[in-house]
Amino acid sequence: MSKSILESREGLNEVISQCAEVAGYLWEKGWAERNGGNMTYDVTEFVDEEMKAMPPLAPARQIGAVLPHLKGCWFYAKGTGRRMRDLARKPMEAGCIIRICDDCASYEMVADAPVAPTSELPSHLALQDYLKGTGSSYKATLHTHPIELVALSHIRSFCSSEILTRTLWSMIPETLAFAPLGLGFIPFATPGTQELADATLKEIGRYDVVLWEKHGTIAVGRDMMDAFDQTDVLNKAACIYKTACQMGTPPEGMTDAQMTEIQELFHLPKTREI
Ligand SMILES: [Zn+2]
Repeated sequence: MSKSILESREGLNEVISQCAEVAGYLWEKGWAERNGGNMTYDVTEFVDEEMKAMPPLAPARQIGAVLPHLKGCWFYAKGTGRRMRDLARKPMEAGCIIRICDDCASYEMVADAPVAPTSELPSHLALQDYLKGTGSSYKATLHTHPIELVALSHIRSFCSSEILTRTLWSMIPETLAFAPLGLGFIPFATPGTQELADATLKEIGRYDVVLWEKHGTIAVGRDMMDAFDQTDVLNKAACIYKTACQMGTPPEGMTDAQMTEIQELFHLPKTREI
């Protein structure tokens, strides 16, 4: 068996292992049926001379967009049709490391095997391009299907960023503390379309996590665990909301004054910190 790119590359191995760990959580939570969900991770900081000299495993492929901020960038991406539960055990068989070509419009698969990236690669890379363009230190994008958040997006009265954010924040103080930018809402659009990608790009400036109506979430994070944690914190709040409803009445929620006090006491950010 040929050598894995992860061998003797401690830093790279660590972040790919974290992607695998998160993939396992997504499966355990029931958020990643079959091949559901996607992830990308910016691994450019780990690229060495030997990696730069690696030949491509297949001819370059078009991204479908020109992403000028991604020149020279490398990513780990889940493979198309691959399962999160497989990625959890064998990340380099269910995913691939790619490098963006100098035209910023195509990419090459480099290691370990020619596993074609997720069909949602263009939208994930568009987010990565946006993050790079703003000088952000964020590295991860994560799309998954958190059950209670998706269920909320089927209830018309919740289909607004403001109402969703206020309701979820008001469940427990930690939601406010650990998802301080809230949850953006994006009306239904067909997966993989430019319309959905454009709408997501518009909202991701304000929110770390956005909810696609009747589909799932997409999150950006400092690393994969951060993207997962923010999604998890918001879905936990949705679970509490659901549980109170099952007990017979919608929950009261913290008051605006209580939430403002927490925001001020902990100096919670209202915009993304670079
Ligand atoms: Zn999906």
